[in-house]
Amino acid sequence: MFVDSHCHLNFPELSADLPHYLNAMVENQVSHALVVSVNQREMPQVLALAEQYPHLFASVGVHPDHQGEPELSVADLCRLADHPKVVAIGETGLDYYRLEGDLEWQRERFRTHIRAARETGKPLIIHTRSAAEDTLRLMREERASEVGGVLHCFTESQSVADQAMEMGFYISFSGIVTFKKAVELKAVAQSIPLERMLIETDAPYLAPVPFRGKLNHPALVRHVAEEIAVLRNVPLTTIASVTTDNFFRLFHHARAAA
Ligand SMILES: [Zn+2]
Ligand SMILES: [Zn+2]
Repeated sequence: MFVDSHCHLNFPELSADLPHYLNAMVENQVSHALVVSVNQREMPQVLALAEQYPHLFASVGVHPDHQGEPELSVADLCRLADHPKVVAIGETGLDYYRLEGDLEWQRERFRTHIRAARETGKPLIIHTRSAAEDTLRLMREERASEVGGVLHCFTESQSVADQAMEMGFYISFSGIVTFKKAVELKAVAQSIPLERMLIETDAPYLAPVPFRGKLNHPALVRHVAEEIAVLRNVPLTTIASVTTDNFFRLFHHARAAA
């Protein structure tokens, strides 16, 4: 069984044909998926999915790319996270790639999410793009190691992975690891300890090879696992069981809610 640790099943591309994508999960032995929030407006849809389907979980958070969204306080996030199917805070983090100018608001928003995660005991889902140094610095300053979490859709260097793992974090690989040009990332996927590895789709984006450029969905997480199994020269069943165990160890609230 596989778990998609990060997807956006509530996005219209996928929710328009939800029964189809849920069925595809069953057919591909993808037993569970974590539906990740990107802003407060869409949280009711994310929570509704997790409430309706026992094998779907939810997170609450405001994505660093969503400039101009109302800022949630630590208390707001804690209140929203007080739900049995909410197993994580995020996605949060820093993205200096998509936005320019003074991004102090992004760093403040990230700090608020880390504080809420520590307060609720629900781990962090961290998005980082072109901002690894500041991401690690803020994780240290806000003592993210006390709650842990995952660097999702990992595309950074071995050194960034090592520093995150030192803080107790997991590293999640998406379809990017299947791309031919992702040579450095493949090397990271070969070397990090299996017990720190998660797999995800980030659907509807970033479909793995051989579906690159098409609509991504949680069932395709299987292809991420297949690539990692080949890279590490281990059976696919090993990657399946290890990453599933890791998911339920990190997102321990999911065990109780599953
Ligand atoms: Zn992200
Ligand atoms: Zn995402």
